[in-house]
Amino acid sequence: MSDAETLFERIIAREIPADIVYETDDTLAFRDINPQAKTHVLVVPKKRYRNVAELAAADPRLLAEVVTTAAKVAELEGLTRDGYRVVFNTDEHAGQTVFHVHAHVLGGEQLGFFGRYSGQGG
Ligand code: AMP
Repeated sequence: MSDAETLFERIIAREIPADIVYETDDTLAFRDINPQAKTHVLVVPKKRYRNVAELAAADPRLLAEVVTTAAKVAELEGLTRDGYRVVFNTDEHAGQTVFHVHAHVLGGEQLGFFGRYSGQGG
């Protein structure tokens, strides 16, 4: 893993602005700048791991906190009645662009199927 600071560490440090929706001691949730659904929030652990597999191996308690934070965001955003999606992109084929593990929480409308590249963002 590169030591280069990622964008998300700068958001966690409040060095660059973000629309923060929820925070715990160890996680931060903020709106995605390029939303792919009516509601699109990112949940990050404040400590950086490259992807969800590295986080799971190193600190399963923290992974659980990322997921419970995602569930709390879904509750706060009114997504629990109709459902929502939680996605962890991992590396190139999944389109991961920020190498600080993050859960995408998507909902607020009917979501499409996902999988094969369609040329659309997200
Ligand atoms: P991924 O492609 O899974 O690595 O997701 C990275 C996400 O970060 C993308 O959905 C971007 O739209 C989002 N993003 C990039 N810059 C910012 C920013 N400054 N604030 C909030 N979200 C951002």
